[in-house]
Amino acid sequence: MGAVEKQRAEVAAPAAWDYAPAPESREIVSFERRYGLFIGGEQVTPRSRSWFTTISPSTEEPLAEVARGGQKDVALAVDAAREAFRTWSRRKPSERAKVLFRIARILQERARELAVAESLDGGKPIKESRDVDLPLAAAHFFYYAGWADKLEYAFPGRRPRPLGVAAQIVPWNFPLLMLAWKIAPALACGNTVVLKPAETTPLTAMLFADVCRQAEVPPGVVNIVTGDGSTGAYLVREKGIDKVAFTGSTEVGKAIQRELAGRDVSLTLELGGKAANIVFDDCALDQAVEGIVNGIYFNQGHVCCAGSRLLVQESIHDQLVRKLKRRMSTLRVGDPLDKNTDVGAINSNAQLERIAELVQSGVDEGAELYQPPCRLPEKGWWFPPTVFTNVAQSYRVAQEEIFGPVLSVLTFRTPDEAVEKANNTPYGLSAGVWTEKGSRILSLAQRLRAGVIWANTYNRFDPASPFGGYKESGFGREGGLHGLGPYLEFE
Ligand code: NAD
Repeated sequence: MGAVEKQRAEVAAPAAWDYAPAPESREIVSFERRYGLFIGGEQVTPRSRSWFTTISPSTEEPLAEVARGGQKDVALAVDAAREAFRTWSRRKPSERAKVLFRIARILQERARELAVAESLDGGKPIKESRDVDLPLAAAHFFYYAGWADKLEYAFPGRRPRPLGVAAQIVPWNFPLLMLAWKIAPALACGNTVVLKPAETTPLTAMLFADVCRQAEVPPGVVNIVTGDGSTGAYLVREKGIDKVAFTGSTEVGKAIQRELAGRDVSLTLELGGKAANIVFDDCALDQAVEGIVNGIYFNQGHVCCAGSRLLVQESIHDQLVRKLKRRMSTLRVGDPLDKNTDVGAINSNAQLERIAELVQSGVDEGAELYQPPCRLPEKGWWFPPTVFTNVAQSYRVAQEEIFGPVLSVLTFRTPDEAVEKANNTPYGLSAGVWTEKGSRILSLAQRLRAGVIWANTYNRFDPASPFGGYKESGFGREGGLHGLGPYLEFE
């Protein structure tokens, strides 16, 4: 067996299969030249009179102009949400459910269009936006539609009531999916919302505004104010909000928490991560390699719960790294709209610079870098799949969130050492465990300080399953029954 293994490993993997291009047509989506803000059920010109251009990170081509909401715009949106709250919160819960079911079905009907828009605006491979982002976004609305008229059963004897106006701020890595995670539970509980999409990926939110119109969401129940960090800051400062739900960086999360101190506004924070993917020597190694690749190269590593630190049991380190490099050499980097693409474009030039800077620090600190040979497109922002071996725990690449396709490999000898190293981070969002032993999975799951722990798989999501962090990864849960609580108060 060992000999066979050795022989196989020595056979060079084909560096690149010749695949005929299989581009998804972009004809299915047409963007308006310019988008206003979605306030009170219609697109309005921003009072700020300020606009910015959103571009495709894979081609640098301008896609549309989008409004940069100012303080007055944010105030108008919050007023519209307040006004709509009076009737929406008193609607029969089964009527609210109907609206959510309609949204879910329209998302399914328009899935291809929205997936293409997501890949164009954000750079992610079409096979991910088509097979992950869109189905999960629709599933989220279906799931919370089901809860809308059953809140009394979710919290028996506690008389749940909606909070009011929820200010929701989302990042650029899963634009439509994060929107669904925020809007679906808020509306199901009877709240109204003002959502602020990320500046580099506003387009699927603007298409979602059209979905709301189609689904006959009453005016003002969903408001969307595009803009940059300053727009988000105005929203958090606005007096008329009752709740802030933020997903983004730990740094901005902390600033929002400071801003809300002393105010009667409830807060949930979904922040960064530096997850450990722990591989024991008894695991099914080939499956683990797939899980490692999926854990870090999915969505270019722009994933808060990415398995960015690989902890390998020392006895299988060399074999695993060999297999991993071999698998990495088969990843196809390039056009996000090509159905064969595994790794798309980096979301923005700023993010590319951050990744490059951290990778350079890894080299400077003494880690060993491997990148499979691959041709990167000339236009746009790209970074090849990267793995660092020989990494010490103190290195920045083992400590800081890179938010790119970069994996750091460390080793351990015993389960205790694995737990200690995995927990040696200010974050605590997720972790992975690869072993054949069920008892070991259960024991590690109890000792790892992470909100989500996958066993013999990675990056699996389900609307029924709660998601959220410990420590500097934030607090509050999204998804599942747990995801209703942050949008309710109880008598
Ligand atoms: P970011 O914090 O820079 O921006 C997130 C959002 O906040 C954007 O819409 C941005 O415009 C807005 N914003 C920026 N400054 C603000 C301010 N002062 N006040 C209010 N809003 C402000 O983060 P990012 O770079 O867009 O996203 C990457 C980060 O998000 C990573 O750290 C990642 O781990 C995290 N993330 C976490 C989760 C999770 O569920 N825990 C999910 C996805 C991403």
